[in-house]
Amino acid sequence: MSPQKLEIENSDTLKITWNDNSVDKIKLVDLRKNCPCAICSSQEPGSDEMIVRRYIDSQVQVASISPVGQYAINIIWKDGHNTGIYEYDYLKELAGKFKVN
Ligand SMILES: [Zn+2]
Repeated sequence: MSPQKLEIENSDTLKITWNDNSVDKIKLVDLRKNCPCAICSSQEPGSDEMIVRRYIDSQVQVASISPVGQYAINIIWKDGHNTGIYEYDYLKELAGKFKVN
């Protein structure tokens, strides 16, 4: 499955229309919090799970999204963070976890 269309809704939600016409919506803040890149995953709280990280606006706004091969998208955030490669499977997983209606 691959995305047919990617849209930002209400400036805080990523809407993915898959090629089977199903639609998933994920809050941008959840995408950013779950950025799979090495930098972000190494900052994963783990032992300090009690600490809730807060995000400034530019960290949860998308500057651009570009496809990576046939398996992922690269989200570039307005704060310049651009190392997050979100595989389609991972997007599906996040959509399942953080479903928005
Ligand atoms: Zn990251």
